[in-house]
Amino acid sequence: MHFKYCPECGALLVDRDAGDDGKVPYCESCGKYWFDQFASCVIVLIYNEFDEIVLSRQNYLSEKYAVFTSGFITPGETAEEAVKREVKEELGLDLEEPEYAGTFWLARRDQLMHCFLGFCRKKPLVLSPELDGAEWVPAMDVPKYVYPERAGTAIYPMYRRFLKKRGLAEPGKGSEPE
Ligand SMILES: [Zn+2]
Repeated sequence: MHFKYCPECGALLVDRDAGDDGKVPYCESCGKYWFDQFASCVIVLIYNEFDEIVLSRQNYLSEKYAVFTSGFITPGETAEEAVKREVKEELGLDLEEPEYAGTFWLARRDQLMHCFLGFCRKKPLVLSPELDGAEWVPAMDVPKYVYPERAGTAIYPMYRRFLKKRGLAEPGKGSEPE
């Protein structure tokens, strides 16, 4: 989000030099710079001992495709805490130590996504009313249900990282027969 008016006093902001950051919106009444702001979120690929992955449906995100579990980081919380909280709230699962899997910028929502792989022993999912569905899906079937691969989505990089970690070949990209 790029500020045009001061969020505290409502004054029109002016561009002012802020050292290495160049011109930044500035409130002359409050004496304060207003740097661009964006949300920080987590997204997690949850897998179990049978190499199944949780896919969820949230119709407000997509009626057609399934997604990994994600949510906003709340102020005061670390990304690791946010992952565990979201997974507990949405699916009733207790993740073991989530493994950090890098970040990506979700341009269409102006969000910085912190990606994780999270292991959890298989047990039934207890869905939050926020979800329109969720289930354990064999890892090899995941590409059938998620968004087709395109730039700016984290699902495939996370999925490949999971496959590599588990020593699994990517579906449809196995070695050629001899
Ligand atoms: Zn102000």
